[in-house]
Amino acid sequence: MDIGEISKLCLRLGCRLLTDCPLSEYTTFRLGGICRAMISINSAKSAVEVLRYVREKSLKYGVIGRGSNIIASDSGFDGVILLFGADFAEVLVCKDDNEIKCSSGALLSSVCAQAQHEGLSGMENLYGIPGTVGGALYMNAGAYGSEIRDIVVCAEYIDESNTLRTVSAEDMDLSYRHSIFADRGYIITSVTLRLKKGDPEDIKIAMDECMKKRKLKQPLNYPSAGSTFKRPEGSYASLLIEQCGLKGMTCGGAMVSEKHSGFIVNKGGATCEDVLTLCRRVQEIVREKTGFRLELEPVILS
Ligand SMILES: Cc1cc2nc3c(=O)[nH]c(=O)nc-3n(C[C@H](O)[C@H](O)[C@H](O)COP(=O)(O)OP(=O)(O)OC[C@H]3O[C@@H](n4cnc5c(N)ncnc54)[C@H](O)[C@@H]3O)c2cc1C
Repeated sequence: MDIGEISKLCLRLGCRLLTDCPLSEYTTFRLGGICRAMISINSAKSAVEVLRYVREKSLKYGVIGRGSNIIASDSGFDGVILLFGADFAEVLVCKDDNEIKCSSGALLSSVCAQAQHEGLSGMENLYGIPGTVGGALYMNAGAYGSEIRDIVVCAEYIDESNTLRTVSAEDMDLSYRHSIFADRGYIITSVTLRLKKGDPEDIKIAMDECMKKRKLKQPLNYPSAGSTFKRPEGSYASLLIEQCGLKGMTCGGAMVSEKHSGFIVNKGGATCEDVLTLCRRVQEIVREKTGFRLELEPVILS
């Protein structure tokens, strides 16, 4: 990888380049080794150019939003990470259509707060999910009976031939923690949401209620990637883990949360290996004792 050349590309595009940065600072689990190069994307056009460059040079690449659903490898990432964050977080509200168009690095919580401010209802239950809009659509994030698929209208993305395209919601193949973007490795650059008119006070009450539930139920005082396992058909991961008596089980610095058994947390100094070993143990015991197969929800970045 030619860092000098990447630096020139970033200079031309006006993007920030971070070299040799610890992934633990870019993931909520606080895990991961060094990433050779991270480019903070500032526009869809820059994203296209960066992707064209890394693909032409056959460099390894990855995408991080807020890093709240990622388990990053201890050995780091010997390639280029495209970071969709604060440098690409524009939020445009069109009150006539009740629509909000967000650049993919916008934080879901900021978009919720803006919707509330504008008296737009429909995303209150998503308040508190600590990711970007791009990451939320990629995972079809959801909470308390709502998912982003309920409100998304269309999105712009970059396909495998570095072309910027638009896709409407019905063609995104959205289902539980699944999307066409994850299936095909498409890079999301913007997301348009359609909401309904509502009373800002009522929206605020619903959002606060949602946050209260999160604080009550989730181990927010420890780094994690949220729910460690997907909900298996016919049960709940947390219930199965609790029934198997695995609350508080540890491996190195990783622990099955005492507060919410669906979360594996970093109680301090955990490595990616600790987390993955603990995940495997939990999966084995749950499978043995209950017959349910638990599937990891976060994405492993290696
Ligand atoms: C405390 C806590 C609570 C959580 N609660 C919930 C919850 O209630 N519901 C829920 O669904 N999730 C929850 N999560 C998980 C996580 O917040 C969501 O999945 C979130 O949508 C991930 O967004 P992100 O920007 O952090 O994505 P990242 O973690 O950065 O990335 C996740 C995946 O998406 C890809 N990706 C990110 N941005 C893009 C993009 N622009 N284009 C293409 N691919 C992209 C990445 O490459 C990666 O594969 C929680 C996490 C934590 C830590």
